[in-house]
Amino acid sequence: MSYPTVELSSVRKTFGPTVALGGCNLTAYAGEVHAIIGGNGSGKSTLAKVISGVLIPDSGQVSILGKSATSPHEARQLGISNVFQEVLVADECSVLDNLYLGADGLLGSSMNREEKEAKAAELMRELLGFDIDLSGLVGELPLSVKQWVTIARALLTDPKVLILDESSAALDFDSTERLFRKMRQLKQRGASILIVTHRIAELVRIADRATVLRDGVDVGRLAKEEITEARILELIAGA
Ligand code: ADP
Ligand code: MG
Repeated sequence: MSYPTVELSSVRKTFGPTVALGGCNLTAYAGEVHAIIGGNGSGKSTLAKVISGVLIPDSGQVSILGKSATSPHEARQLGISNVFQEVLVADECSVLDNLYLGADGLLGSSMNREEKEAKAAELMRELLGFDIDLSGLVGELPLSVKQWVTIARALLTDPKVLILDESSAALDFDSTERLFRKMRQLKQRGASILIVTHRIAELVRIADRATVLRDGVDVGRLAKEEITEARILELIAGA
């Protein structure tokens, strides 16, 4: 039986007069892909940032494997990796340096530079389908490869919870398939994957569970067999 990894209860987050999350609940389980679905501005990215310690809720509880995090660093220590919707890379740094940015203390102390390089090269090859120069500057890469750098960076720390916020937006079909294969491997290791995507056909295929948001409130919780395009559209529209 699978256990909860991330649990949110009655989470509220406002930005001035804007209520981004208005009492939101969600439970994600180990070994499952959990889709977060909703229209533009429904609070999906805010939810992702609250789970990853980037935003602190005004009220409500966020539990990560029974613990709470009050900073992105703490959340990462608890096993959360968030691939943000904004493709956040340091253009002036090398691919390798970008991949290990902020990973101090998360990889075990035993890895030297050669081992780090080998691990990064293998992962990038697996994700991209070809080799890239790890010493090259990220600023010179096309957007799709930059997106892979952010995904690979999240994967290198072997997360217990991986959050993908529209992370396939710049990826083509073959790349998305490689991402899905990686997600299945993570699931088998007992990780949770929280996925935000506008591509409904994609998530009908991949999601084991879904939470539908409308105006920052969870208006639907769907089990695998209930995740259909028609049901999702109905919930988003408020029918
Ligand atoms: P989604 O990812 O579902 O499109 P968001 O979580 O990004 O939605 O945004 C939810 C609401 O909160 C929107 O109305 C958005 O404009 C607002 N919002 C999000 N982040 C900020 C911010 N940093 N400052 C002010 N308003 C914000
Ligand atoms: Mg968003």
